[in-house]
This record gives sequence, C-alpha cells and structure tokens, in this order.
Amino acid sequence: MSVALVVPAAGSGERLGLPLPKALADLAGAPLVRRTLERLAITKAFSETVVLVPAAHLSAFEQALAGLPAGLGTVLVRPGGSSRQASVWAGLEAIGPACDLICVHDAARPLIEPATVIKVMDEARRHGAATAASRPADSVRIDVAEGTKALDRRRLWLVETPQVFEASVLRRAHEHARAGGVEGTDDASLVEALGLEIRIVASQGCNLKVTNRADLIAARELLAFSAAAPH
Ligand code: C5P
Repeated sequence: MSVALVVPAAGSGERLGLPLPKALADLAGAPLVRRTLERLAITKAFSETVVLVPAAHLSAFEQALAGLPAGLGTVLVRPGGSSRQASVWAGLEAIGPACDLICVHDAARPLIEPATVIKVMDEARRHGAATAASRPADSVRIDVAEGTKALDRRRLWLVETPQVFEASVLRRAHEHARAGGVEGTDDASLVEALGLEIRIVASQGCNLKVTNRADLIAARELLAFSAAAPH
C-alpha cells in the first residue's frame, strides 16, 4: 500500500515572537520542519511527501529541506493556505492520484516517535481512519450555563497528529467541509463528519506541538535527550 505524507508547515511565527515562520525556528542546529521530516523519514513508509509552507518563504523552505534522508519519497514544497485546513487541501491537490493512504502530520510536532506513526498507519490500514492522541495530565472542566463542570479526564483524549486516512476518504472529507463552509482544527473531525469512526492510538513519548516560546525551549531539551537515549 502506498502512503503519501502531507505536512502543513505554513503557520506564522507570531505566537513564538519570531520574525520568521515557526517551521523555520532553530531546533538544536536545524529548522523545526527539517527535524520533523527527519523523524518521519525513519519509518521509510512514504512514497511521496508534500510540505505546505508560507508562500512568501518558498525558497527558504526549499533550502531548509534540501538533502533530506531517504524514506520520504519525492519531496515537494508548495505554498500553503490561510488556515491549516486550506494548507492540507493544497497538499491534497499536489499529491499524485495513486496513493492508498494519506498521513497528515503537523510540522510543529518534531518529537513524534516513528513507532507511533507506524501504529497509526496500521490502524488506518485496518479501519480507514486513525489518529495519535494522549490523555490529559491536568484535570479538565467544561463551560456550562452556571459556570464550569468537571469532566472525567480518564475518558478524554487530546488529539494530535499523525492522522492517517484512506486517500479517498480524506479527499471526500475535505470536499464535504469546503462545500459546507466548515473549518476544522484537524482532519479527523472532517472525516468524522462523514460518519466514519476515528480509531485512537495512544502516542508514545512526548508528542509536543511547538506553539509558544516555552514549547520551543522544551522541544530543544527533549530532542537532545532523545538523541542521547538509546532507541
Ligand atoms: O496553528 P497550529 O499550531 O494549529 O498549526 C498546526 C500546523 O498547521 C503547524 O504545523 C502549522 O505550520 C500548520 N499551518 C499551516 N497553514 C496555516 C496555519 C497553520 O500549514 N495557515
């Protein structure tokens, strides 16, 4: 089964307080997006890869991604859109028609464990749609009319990427969302809107999403730690 990889990396560096796009932020000597793709390449699972980047920084990203290790197939760098969903859509338009599965992984998650990627792909192969996720470490409350109410965190999942889908399902989900003017924060929610079940794979390790400065500092430390630890 051939698997295409779509990596949305078109976010701005605004919340990081950076003058450059977030995905180009330095992570222990290499841009964040490169670190993420190096992790994904370890799986050797992909026949083609599309990275969606801010249109104004196309050549900087092409440079940052030159000479990646094998395992990602042909790597294309394309302009993303004004939202994450629009960027993934641009990725769907750029990948070839021949792939069976599509794996979407945020550039902002450089610590992804290759074993988690493989497990999510296996679940999607069997059931059509799967995502990595983690249990919350904090107690969780939800807004209600009279204030807030406790939720049972043992039954909650924090949804992450990678998310893997049958290619035709993901394409249909995005077409459906576009037709209905729906903007989702992830692809699993768009697929779920078609009535499909999303299988959950508990993430191994720390699948941190780099959003603010503290995340970037934590990611640097964790990357150094995992490079030192035996795999
Ligand atoms: O903004 P957020 O952290 O949810 O972004 C998740 C991923 O989506 C990041 O890797 C970011 O670069 C990407 N993104 C994108 N296009 C946008 C906004 C975000 O590819 N317009």
